[in-house]
Amino acid sequence: MAASLGTIVHASIEDLLQMDLSGRDDLEIGWLGSTGEKFLRQRWEEEKEIFHNTPRRPKWKEEDFPKAKRQQRGAIRMLLRFIDSPEISNDKVSIAHWRKLHSRVIAVEGELRTADDRLMGRLDMLLADVDEKGNLRSWVVADLKTGRVPEGGILKPEVHRQLLLYRDILGSNNQNAPPIRAEGWYTDDAGIYTAEGDSVMEAALKAWEATKPSETPLEATPGEKSCGGFCDWKAWCPHWWNWRAKGGGSNSDFKDIVVLLQHYDSVSGGGVAEMCEPADESGRVLPTGLQMAINFDNRGKEALEELLESGHKGPLFIGSAMMKRGTCRVGHWCDVLAWSPIPDA
Ligand code: SF4
Repeated sequence: MAASLGTIVHASIEDLLQMDLSGRDDLEIGWLGSTGEKFLRQRWEEEKEIFHNTPRRPKWKEEDFPKAKRQQRGAIRMLLRFIDSPEISNDKVSIAHWRKLHSRVIAVEGELRTADDRLMGRLDMLLADVDEKGNLRSWVVADLKTGRVPEGGILKPEVHRQLLLYRDILGSNNQNAPPIRAEGWYTDDAGIYTAEGDSVMEAALKAWEATKPSETPLEATPGEKSCGGFCDWKAWCPHWWNWRAKGGGSNSDFKDIVVLLQHYDSVSGGGVAEMCEPADESGRVLPTGLQMAINFDNRGKEALEELLESGHKGPLFIGSAMMKRGTCRVGHWCDVLAWSPIPDA
């Protein structure tokens, strides 16, 4: 849902930056709120359809629309600041203001690619920073961020690196470019965070060399930070399970588990699950005989029933099941997938 929200906000800002202003009166005001909301709503509905057509999905949160609106407002605040109109309220923004903004947009949602095709990035906005006389001062690579604001004003290393890479790819393709600034535009606090530093091209090319497919699997690094977070591959990875069986992981109420469903009532969503342990390193399943009540609801129930309807009969991987008072609850936030570990060999 967070990713969908980001897509919606990004797309609605692109719409605002590419809207047709021809024939509009420069003095017209009071249009920005309604136009912004119209674009946001259109993108919301588009994204909702894509979301519902995605087999592995959590719950669509209709109640998050105001959050998307707030994020869009944050992005608009930063755009107005960029054209030196920070104080102006949305209902006072004129078509003339927006024309000025459009005149400063060099590209929206463009692909960045090195000449040798090895590195690429997706640019949200490339803007022209000008002085009071209108002379070009620099290019600004502005990357809209709808996630959490950097703690203490410091960009996370991976975001910092990403922004510098965009800057460097752009520079490598435009030898006569003016100075290029790379910025993260955080919609949550309408804060702009600049990434500064030496070129990262050499390190990026080194990483590119290292990521070529090979016959040898990358070494697994199970741990709280890697598997404990939101790794999407758990249903296919035997490593986290073995690590957990050997005592790894925290004692949270939310657990990733592998179970055999012994009984299921599709009316109530209730059933009985037998807990499993890894029989070996490859993730072969060992039923433990330990049974517990399990309850599927909302999207968790739908996902289970889709899986059962597809003919699946074996063990289930359940991501983030809520384990409390001897019952296991599988709700809209959970992954429910066939347990299909891929051995390293
Ligand atoms: S679950 Fe597997 S693939 Fe995911 S982080 Fe852990 S070891 Fe790596």
